[in-house]
Amino acid sequence: MIYFDNAATTRPYKEIIDIYNKVNTECWYNASSKHRYGVIAHNLFDKATNLIEKTFGITNKKVVFTSSATEANNKAIYGVCDKYKNQNKRIITTKYEHPSVLNCFRELENYFDVKYLDILPNGEIDYQQLEEYLNNDTVFVSIMYVNNIIGSINDINKVVSLVRRYPRIKLHIDGVQGVGKIKLTFNIDDVDLLTASAHKNHGLKGTAILVYNKNLDLELIEQGSEQQIIKSGTIDLAGAVACSKAFEIAFKNLDKDIKNSYEIKEYIYSELSKNPNIHLNSLMDNYSPHILNFSYIGVNSETLMHYLESKDIYVSISSACNEKLARPEPVVLELTKNEIYARSSIRLSFSSDNTILDGKKFIEAINNYKKVGKI
Ligand code: PLP
Repeated sequence: MIYFDNAATTRPYKEIIDIYNKVNTECWYNASSKHRYGVIAHNLFDKATNLIEKTFGITNKKVVFTSSATEANNKAIYGVCDKYKNQNKRIITTKYEHPSVLNCFRELENYFDVKYLDILPNGEIDYQQLEEYLNNDTVFVSIMYVNNIIGSINDINKVVSLVRRYPRIKLHIDGVQGVGKIKLTFNIDDVDLLTASAHKNHGLKGTAILVYNKNLDLELIEQGSEQQIIKSGTIDLAGAVACSKAFEIAFKNLDKDIKNSYEIKEYIYSELSKNPNIHLNSLMDNYSPHILNFSYIGVNSETLMHYLESKDIYVSISSACNEKLARPEPVVLELTKNEIYARSSIRLSFSSDNTILDGKKFIEAINNYKKVGKI
């Protein structure tokens, strides 16, 4: 099997599964209980939190373990914005965020002046437009670090320098496709909130984090007992420990994993660029090494996906969350202005599990593809 869908999720490492099972077997207590075993559980929870702080190099942030990056994004957005509803305030995001951000902003259109940023031809956000949209009524900005469809990397330092002209604005970065995939090009202490996901880094589904400024009072958007104020419910101790371990391993292996993904991407990129049927939607420079998006011109992405599946190669035809919608991929449509390219878009995404040999087998399969049917 060749699994090139690592931006959707990654195979959990055995040591992460082992640590999760160990905690659930040996320390399954409620970390909020006041008896001895509750205290032991709470100490372990504190250790997991400290490991995140150490791994991410943060000193002045709270860490909240969430059940998904979707939950973390929702908490960041509603947690900041709730108190500003119906006050003629402005909030800003981009047109090509993940649905876990975009759909919150669409809902908030009922209460805010919402602005959506375009992207530049290189896939980065339009920084000049951001500068134009920022004003004294703006209270919140949310920008993704690495685009999940094409892999372009936004310059968060540029965003920080523009946003910081307005001290009241809170800046959230959806770091899901960047954290653990590329070397961080910004200082986490410079942003107010950051989302990251462990299952994109060989951790377990159900484990993600939101880190945010200690002095930031996020609105409580659910009722119940609380973890670090904004997360209700009994603490998932095993999940928190497994999550912190996944990030620790991802950061430790970062250089090696970047090199591996880069070599595979570079090989496939250069081979695909020789194929006249193919249009490359991702670039090499200033793009994440783990994402390569291309279009097999005129072949519906689903058709090509199933052809590759028949060769035991697994790719994505869109963000996994959009996969059920048979529509052109919006970010590819915007970049290429070509609906056929957008309907032919395929995303390959790599991890430490992949090798150059996988890349060679993939290229062989693509070069042997005989066009059947068309869009
Ligand atoms: N943000 C980005 C950029 C993503 O790519 C994803 C998932 O692919 C998410 C958020 C949501 O992650 P999850 O589905 O784990 O909640």
